[in-house]
Amino acid sequence: MPWAIRFWGTRGSIPAPGPGTVRYGGNTACLELVAPDGRRLVLDAGTGIRSLGLALPPSARDPVVILLSHTHWDHIQGLPFFAPLYRPEATVSIIGPAPATGRLGDVLRDQMGAAVFPVSLSAWTATLDVREVAEGAFEAGGFSVKALHLCHPGTTLGYRIGIQPGSPELAYLTDNEIAGWDAPDRRARLVRFLHACDTMIHDAMYLSNRGAGRRGWGHSTAAEAVRLASEARVNRLVLFHHDPEHTDDDLERLLTEAEQVRADSGGRFDIQIAAEGVALGPAGG
Ligand SMILES: [Zn+2]
Ligand SMILES: [Zn+2]
Repeated sequence: MPWAIRFWGTRGSIPAPGPGTVRYGGNTACLELVAPDGRRLVLDAGTGIRSLGLALPPSARDPVVILLSHTHWDHIQGLPFFAPLYRPEATVSIIGPAPATGRLGDVLRDQMGAAVFPVSLSAWTATLDVREVAEGAFEAGGFSVKALHLCHPGTTLGYRIGIQPGSPELAYLTDNEIAGWDAPDRRARLVRFLHACDTMIHDAMYLSNRGAGRRGWGHSTAAEAVRLASEARVNRLVLFHHDPEHTDDDLERLLTEAEQVRADSGGRFDIQIAAEGVALGPAGG
């Protein structure tokens, strides 16, 4: 397999465990990308990162590299429970955009402030490297990354990730309101960013009848994600950042709606619901 992406958390906003979410998962956003040569990149640090931290071999010497889309709770709230941060022999690199005000490191420190958490950031005995990135191209954990500002409150980046030269590419755009890219030149820029990537993981929080009342919240309907995937000619769309109010059955209704929109738009790409614990290789081989 040229690479694999595993979903450790698929939910948006707040964890939603319970009997209604066992198939697609209740943990908030966290993904693990593994290249064929063993390079690993963690995308976002929602509550799913706790289980990932326990699954990583304690003897792993390679730095753990975490790339954050932004610093809203559901994308960082698992960090205080990420085991490698408490191992003196580990090195953890946290990369992401600076928040709208302040610095990335301050957000991580404040999340472990005495009023809200029992131990402070100084309990992280790993060697910690915090790096701020902005729109443009950079390297993270040996992967080549292109970043684009998304339409979402605060500063949020979407990523297109090259695994190795010639290998199918992955795009990760969570917390993005596609309806906000309505100006033709902006829409064209978004489509160009995604053009012909293999797998596009995109925010699909709402059914069409819910989206209209939530304009400006920074999220998309599954139908909007399908139309974008169709325009960008991707091989596969993965519906992500599930609404905490959506049960597994609701998500399957969302998929049915998405498949109908794909048929209407003439698209032939694969559509999947991101499912916690499931790993995917490239869709196009
Ligand atoms: Zn989110
Ligand atoms: Zn957000």
